[in-house]
Amino acid sequence: MEVGVLAIQGDFAEHIAVLSNLGVTAREVRLPKHLDSLEGLIIPGGESTTLSRLMTIYNLREPVAEMAAQGRAVWGTCAGMIMLSQEITENDPVPLGVMDIGVQRNAFGRQVDSFEQTLDVSALGSDPYHAIFIRAPLIIRVGEEVDVLCALDADRPVAVQQGNLMATSFHPELTNDYRFHSYFLGLAGGNGNSPVSRNGAS
Ligand code: GLN
Repeated sequence: MEVGVLAIQGDFAEHIAVLSNLGVTAREVRLPKHLDSLEGLIIPGGESTTLSRLMTIYNLREPVAEMAAQGRAVWGTCAGMIMLSQEITENDPVPLGVMDIGVQRNAFGRQVDSFEQTLDVSALGSDPYHAIFIRAPLIIRVGEEVDVLCALDADRPVAVQQGNLMATSFHPELTNDYRFHSYFLGLAGGNGNSPVSRNGAS
């Protein structure tokens, strides 16, 4: 299986290191041709306005949106989540609009307001998940086809899945807990069940 990490801005090296620890050599994606034959793509955290501009300059917006529409796995973390969303509350950046979610940038405040939080993520098993939020965006609208993987509370989802697409407000690549990356590799490998059917909960 070949997966890639968008490597034009942000903490792509950390994602590549986690994938490497899981035995997967990820391709660095900087140009549209680097997406060829990939089964999955991670869009890392960073600064979404810069990420968006660079994606425009390198002609990556349409090919990445196309990849998502084709059913290949795409996961956005933090700024990457902002890019995957349908709409955001700010004017900048213009997101790709591939996931049926609405997002508010910097919803928890500035860099100093970054925080860590232990979460229940049933799709990853019963062990609690320790999440790192850095100038994090919040999901403020969730479409009908979107499953909430975990939330801070009933009104504040922070990880969601829509079929082959996944978005997290926080940074799994900055922890030693690789379960989100393993889950993503499952999506990329065609085990893209909804979290509900994965758990056998319905
Ligand atoms: N606040 C950043 C943005 O709006 C995202 C921060 C991050 O990716 N850690 O793009």
